[in-house]
Amino acid sequence: MKRVYNFSAGPACLPEEVLKEAAEEMLDYNGSGMSVMEMSHRSLAFDQIIRTAEQDLRDLMQIPDNYKVLFLQGGASQQFAMIPMNLMKNRVADYIVTGQWAKKAWQEAQKYGKANKIASSEDKTFSYIPDCSDLPISPDADYVYICENNTIYGTKFKELPNTKGKTLVADVSSCFLSEPVDVTKYGIIYGGVQKNIGPAGMVIAIIREDLITEDVLPGTPTMLTYKTHADAGSLYNTPNCYCIYMCGKVFKWLKKNGGLAAMKEKNEKKAAILYNYLDESRLFHGTVEKKDRSLMNVPFVTGDKELDAKFVKEAEAAGLVNLKGHRTVGGMRASIYNAMPLEGVEALVAFMKKFEEENA
Ligand SMILES: *Cc1c(COP(=O)(O)O)cnc(C)c1O
Repeated sequence: MKRVYNFSAGPACLPEEVLKEAAEEMLDYNGSGMSVMEMSHRSLAFDQIIRTAEQDLRDLMQIPDNYKVLFLQGGASQQFAMIPMNLMKNRVADYIVTGQWAKKAWQEAQKYGKANKIASSEDKTFSYIPDCSDLPISPDADYVYICENNTIYGTKFKELPNTKGKTLVADVSSCFLSEPVDVTKYGIIYGGVQKNIGPAGMVIAIIREDLITEDVLPGTPTMLTYKTHADAGSLYNTPNCYCIYMCGKVFKWLKKNGGLAAMKEKNEKKAAILYNYLDESRLFHGTVEKKDRSLMNVPFVTGDKELDAKFVKEAEAAGLVNLKGHRTVGGMRASIYNAMPLEGVEALVAFMKKFEEENA
């Protein structure tokens, strides 16, 4: 068996230790004689899995008691609708559009009310984060929305926008658990888990309790009402049991490895290796403003499409896979999430140096 270094943006690499543990427990979870995949979501064993997962996440992120943690299906994209359906009491919301995912969320919200685009970086292919210190926040806005780390373009908000007292809602799909966060700054902080936490098929939404009400937009389905899931402890219907189990294992792995502060340090170190090389390379260069660079998603180009394609192909043959950039940006993108070891980034940079020598 040979494992590759997988730079996919998502679904993405998982800690090898976690995969091995899951493999060991595949046929017999903890003496139950069955796999977690075969287990009732109402069983005592699963109840323990979901409760432990939630508590470990609360510990890692220091989530205050007045926030609910929901394990939901429908991916991050379903939140693009759930957020306005549950929060748009005045039918007004302000969106900061810094990439495709923020744009999709903004477009979806337009179905439910007045969704204002109060800032955007689309003029320069989303290669920077706009100044958000003094935005024209709508007086009656129900919330201000951001996508905190832009997976496709490789930018990240280093500072949260000044929402002038309005509730902040953030999609953190691609920077979830990559560094410590102050949950109290957000009304909702949510993300699909397939980028930086677990397998595909689930989104975790951390929501301040006062935002979870029965007062949702008319016609909102039961399943798309936060209160349904909050009241039932994410067990209103059958949840994605196996995904919750896998995420729980990753939470334990994060705790064992020093938590989010240690993760941040490791992620900064990994990203610096790649960015430092990009800054000195004569062949490759990064595509976004330095001050806004993501620690998780690193897009880069040679400026020559054929050379980019050659690089991606040769890298794959060398066991460095999924480096092709998003179709809207081109070039390459290395996603270096929590589970990507330092050695993976070192191997990538060594390969890039060799490629540069051969193709200069
Ligand atoms: C991948 C991604 C999404 C979409 O996630 P799905 O689970 O496929 O719906 C949304 N937002 C961000 C920031 C992402 O990276």
